[in-house]
Amino acid sequence: MTETCDAIIIGGGVMGASIISNLSSSGLTKTILLEKSTIGAGSTGRSSGAIRMHYSTKVNASLAHESLKVFANFSDLVGGDVGFVRTGYMVFAPSEASQVFRENISMQQDVGISTKEIDHKEAAELAPVFKISEGEHIAWEDDSGHADPSATALAYINHARANGATIHLETPVTDIKISESGPHQVITEKACFESENVIIATGPWTGEFLKKIDVSLPLLPTRHEVFLIKRNLNKIPTHPGGGDMANLIYFRPEGHDLTLVGNGNHEETANPDSYNQKYNLSYAADVWTRLTKRIPSIADAELFTGYSGLYTSTPDLHPIIDSVDGINGLFVCSGFSGHGFKLAPAVGTVMAELVTQGKASTVDIEPLKMNRFADGKLNTTKYSFKVIA
Ligand SMILES: Cc1cc2nc3c(=O)[nH]c(=O)nc-3n(C[C@H](O)[C@H](O)[C@H](O)COP(=O)(O)OP(=O)(O)OC[C@H]3O[C@@H](n4cnc5c(N)ncnc54)[C@H](O)[C@@H]3O)c2cc1C
Repeated sequence: MTETCDAIIIGGGVMGASIISNLSSSGLTKTILLEKSTIGAGSTGRSSGAIRMHYSTKVNASLAHESLKVFANFSDLVGGDVGFVRTGYMVFAPSEASQVFRENISMQQDVGISTKEIDHKEAAELAPVFKISEGEHIAWEDDSGHADPSATALAYINHARANGATIHLETPVTDIKISESGPHQVITEKACFESENVIIATGPWTGEFLKKIDVSLPLLPTRHEVFLIKRNLNKIPTHPGGGDMANLIYFRPEGHDLTLVGNGNHEETANPDSYNQKYNLSYAADVWTRLTKRIPSIADAELFTGYSGLYTSTPDLHPIIDSVDGINGLFVCSGFSGHGFKLAPAVGTVMAELVTQGKASTVDIEPLKMNRFADGKLNTTKYSFKVIA
């Protein structure tokens, strides 16, 4: 039997969850999400959850800015507790990046983001445990912090369900039949669903998935390790979040006494169905050593645990949020390259606008179109190094 609906979302990570929540608020009464496992089982459930707005392109900065408004007021706007903690966030750039760093801060301020460059004295007052080197530049975002990615996805799902959406767990999509004139068919092992609107939000599985319909996009699953270090609270009671371009790490406090740290330049390609989810001890030592360059007193802390997850990386580290060229009503939302969680609320908004109005209006997502790869019009970040998450 075939079930007809207003929109079908494939994938129950934070993107699919935000999209179905936003669609269910925008007048589409019959929406369905198909998830092959459980909500947050992919990248979302292994995400570091860092939320900051420092980007070097307007599109990413705008998506992060719009999203933070939601994270900070989630229970009122969507409902549920997503564990948003406002720690403040420092971005460190080496002296050679001073010009682009200032240009980026200025662009972010134009977008409406509350960010500013601070001097070393101000930084020491905000974070006495941080070591700051001669000539380093520092940006401070008062409003940023972190949240719980799984809780966020679940809160969006609960909101969508309350609006009448149907969520099918443990339901892998095995095929899609594209129709030029009528609804597309989405096929699972047990049923067939059809809709004029199908949104593919399958995270690291997206590149392979799209091959079913002969669409080829540069979406690479890449493995990323994260570590949790148990602080000595007498030495380091807490600290703000940080993106450290000198030491190529990002970090944030986690819970009562842990610090989560990841490294931004060590991804390797991986198979989403069989990658190593554990961590490597010698790599943990490397990343921890980098962290001690920023927080020297964390040197004698304790390695609590580590794990790895998958980014879905594109050549310009920007996502693809677009309709598929030449196929009405088929949309792709993927390629978040390790920094999608913090964008997810706004991504749900713009995807819902794209589906229901044919164009996103909250943020101009033109730079995220999929044809940029074929046309050679990639987004360019002004930094020559990347610290993502
Ligand atoms: C270790 C790590 C740390 C990170 N840290 C941060 C951070 O600090 N801040 C930040 O902003 N971002 C971070 N990210 C990135 C962020 O987590 C991702 O961008 C985001 O979670 C992507 O969500 P998604 O919904 O696109 O993908 P996913 O969460 O992977 O969801 C895709 C879903 O699709 C389902 N699926 C796949 N194929 C099918 C099919 N055929 N049928 C049905 N369902 C299917 C999967 O089971 C999965 O649940 C991090 C990522 C990782 C891995």
